[in-house]
Amino acid sequence: MSASAHVAIIGSGPAAFYAAEQVLKLGGNVAMFERLPTPFGLVRGGVAPDHPKIKSVTKVYERIASHANFRWYGHVEFGRDVLQEDLPGLFHAVIFATGAQTDRRMGIPGEDLAGSHPATEFVAWYNGHPDYQHHHFDLSVRAAAVVGNGNVAMDVARILARTPEELAETDIADNALEALRHSQIETIYVLGRRGPAQAAYTTPEIKELGELSDADVIVLPEESALDPLSAAALSASPDRGTQGNVDTIARYAAQGPQGKRRHVVMRFLVSPVRLIGETHVEAIELVRNELVAAPDGSLRARATDKTEVLPVGLVFRSIGYKGVSLPGVPFDDGRGVIPNASGRVLDADGHPVTGEYAAGWIKRGPSGIIGTNKPDSIETANALMEDVAAGRCWQPAQPGPASVEALLTSRGIDWMSFEEWQALDAEETARGQASGRPRVKYTDVDTMMHTVHDRRDSTGQQH
Ligand code: NAP
Repeated sequence: MSASAHVAIIGSGPAAFYAAEQVLKLGGNVAMFERLPTPFGLVRGGVAPDHPKIKSVTKVYERIASHANFRWYGHVEFGRDVLQEDLPGLFHAVIFATGAQTDRRMGIPGEDLAGSHPATEFVAWYNGHPDYQHHHFDLSVRAAAVVGNGNVAMDVARILARTPEELAETDIADNALEALRHSQIETIYVLGRRGPAQAAYTTPEIKELGELSDADVIVLPEESALDPLSAAALSASPDRGTQGNVDTIARYAAQGPQGKRRHVVMRFLVSPVRLIGETHVEAIELVRNELVAAPDGSLRARATDKTEVLPVGLVFRSIGYKGVSLPGVPFDDGRGVIPNASGRVLDADGHPVTGEYAAGWIKRGPSGIIGTNKPDSIETANALMEDVAAGRCWQPAQPGPASVEALLTSRGIDWMSFEEWQALDAEETARGQASGRPRVKYTDVDTMMHTVHDRRDSTGQQH
C-alpha cells in the first residue's frame, strides 16, 4: 500500500518539505498546497534578510521538489480552493504544516494604540510577504521598544539598527528598504522580562548585534550582573549557550557606548505594564521584576512595585508566534496547535482522526530552528506511512495528480507549478543582480500571477 500512498501536505515551509522528503523516501507521492505563489514559508518570509546563509537551505527543498512523485500547487488556499472534504477522495492522508501564522498578545492596556505592532507583522513586511505590504510602521519616531528576548526580537532590533547601506546588500523588500532608509529611530530598547541567563536568543545572534556598523549595544551594568539564583542555577548545570549569552551581555556592559549613531539598549528584568498615548504610542510603562524559583525549578519573573516610563513611539511585541486553526481540523486554542500524538491528529476525545497528521510549528508550537523540523516531520511522515501500510487511512477513489489538477481546473483555481515558481525565482535573482543584491522580491500576488501568465503566453506552456 505505501508504495502507492498519495499524501497531501498543506503549507510549503521547512516542516512541509521535510515531511515530503520522508514520504517520498518511503515510496509515497506528495501533493503540496501553498496559499502564496511562493514556497518555503518562514525561510522566505521569516528568516532575516541579513541572514542569507540560513536561506540557502532552500537548495535542499528544491532537490526534494525535483522528485518525480512530488507536485507543488502554488496559489491554492486550503479551506477556500481545496476543502477538507475534497481530500479523502484524492489522498490516503494529509499533513497540516501551516506553521504559526499569528502572534501572542501582551494583554496590557494600550496594546492596540497606533504604533504598537506584533513583531511578526514587521518581519513579514520587511521580508516582502504580500499580505503585509500595506502595513505602515512609523519610523519617524526617535525610539522604539522590542518586547521579548528571543531570536525574533534580535532580528527586529538588528533590522531597525542597521544602516541603509547594510540593508541594501540584502534581499529585504524594496518597500521596507525605502522606508528604513528614512528611519529616524536612534534608540531601540530590547526588553527582557527575565535576566541575561534566561534569554531565549542564541549566542551568535546576541554577538551579531554588537557587530553592526553604526549601532552600539548598551547594557546597564547593574542589569548584566547575575542575581544569586541565576548564578547558582548556571553553576549547578553549566550550559555553553547560556554562558555565552551571559558573557556577551557582560562584555557589552563593560565596554559602554562606542560613539555610534544608534543605540540598542538591552534591558533586563522589566515587563511592560501599559502603553501610554492618546491615539499613538508615546511611551511604555515598565515594572521592574525579580526572579523567583517556580515549583518546577525554573526561575520566573515576579513584579516588584518599582516602575519606570520610557518614551517610545513604536512598540513591537516579540513574545512568540501562535498557530491559527484550520477549517474542519481539531485545534487547541490555548496552545495554538493541532492536538496530536507523534503527528497523528487527535479528536476531542483523544482518538486519532483517520487520515490527518500535523508537522512543524502547528504540531509542536513555535520553537526551535529550521533544522528542528526535520526530525519532527520525519516522525509525522513515519506515523502516516505506517498507518497507510496498515490500511488506517482514507481510501481515495481516484488518487494522483491528474485528479487533483482536474479538481482545481474545474473550480477555476489559478494554480501554479513548482517550475513556474522557479521561473519567478530566476526573475527575482536577475532583478537582484542588476542592483548587486541577492534578489529583488516580488511582493504582490497579482503581479506574480501576471508574470506567470505572461510566461505561459510566451512559451505556450500551461503549468
Ligand atoms: P521565543 O524564542 O519563544 O522567545 C519569546 C520571548 O518572549 C522570550 O524571551 C520570552 O520570555 C518572552 N516573552 C513571552 N511572553 C512575554 C511577556 N508576556 N512579556 C514579556 N516577554 C515575554 O520566540 P521567538 O523569538 O518568536 O522565536 C520563535 C522561534 O524561532 C525560536 O525557536 C527561535 O529560536 C526561532 N528563531 C530562530 C532564529 C535564528 O536562528 N536566527 C531567528 C528567528 C527565530 P520568557 O523566556 O521569560 O518566557
